[in-house]
Amino acid sequence: MPGSSTYRIVVALDAVETVRTAYRLVDVLCEKVYGFKLGLPLLLRHGPKVAGRLRSLCPSAAWIADLKLADIGAVMKATVETIIDDVDAVIAHSFVGARGALDELKEYLDARGRKLILVATMSHSGAEEVYDKALDLIDFVIERVQPWGLVAPATRPSLVERLRRKHPNTVILSPGVGAQGAKPGTALCHGADYEIVGRAITSSENPLGSLEEIGATQMEVLRQCRRERH
Ligand code: C5P
Repeated sequence: MPGSSTYRIVVALDAVETVRTAYRLVDVLCEKVYGFKLGLPLLLRHGPKVAGRLRSLCPSAAWIADLKLADIGAVMKATVETIIDDVDAVIAHSFVGARGALDELKEYLDARGRKLILVATMSHSGAEEVYDKALDLIDFVIERVQPWGLVAPATRPSLVERLRRKHPNTVILSPGVGAQGAKPGTALCHGADYEIVGRAITSSENPLGSLEEIGATQMEVLRQCRRERH
């Protein structure tokens, strides 16, 4: 994946009202973040071609399509085909399992040099009702499919730590920072590689200022965490 950023942050572009706002966000944040995650609200509102236009403004970033894929292999592949040329990685749910689903998607992405990221569990409290209870089964899917990355919640750092232990060589991206309450840097302290931040930056009147504030907290929390652990 490309990306040599100031902060270990992926910006989630979801409910961005206009394409111009999305352009402005990418333009102003480009050099400072690891990547951008394109959410369904953005892609459905502005069409999949918006991915290529945004990417051309910041080719150095990692571009991730968060289509929240959860279907049979054939349908996931057909969905990804609409955007594959313009992104580096694609996010899918893990609960659909490998056979007839994620195995096929992984093979399709590997053949095209694109990465698969699996949601291991989610950041909202409802994830405790199903996803968290199935974590042992999810581990099995992760081991079999061998995705490049995992999504694990910054809101529940103990789960990030558990996944880091079980899957030491997989990149972990953690959402839930800012609007959902997790403190910047906490997930990194527990083993995540990047934190995903959406509304705390995209809904801010000063997105760059908010990014820098979050990034500074992230680095401070990480420094403190390293001091405590050594
Ligand atoms: O605006 P906010 O920072 O809460 O955005 C979090 C982003 O992370 C959203 O794009 C959401 O879809 C995503 N996400 C999440 N929990 C997951 C997987 C993805 O919040 N487990």
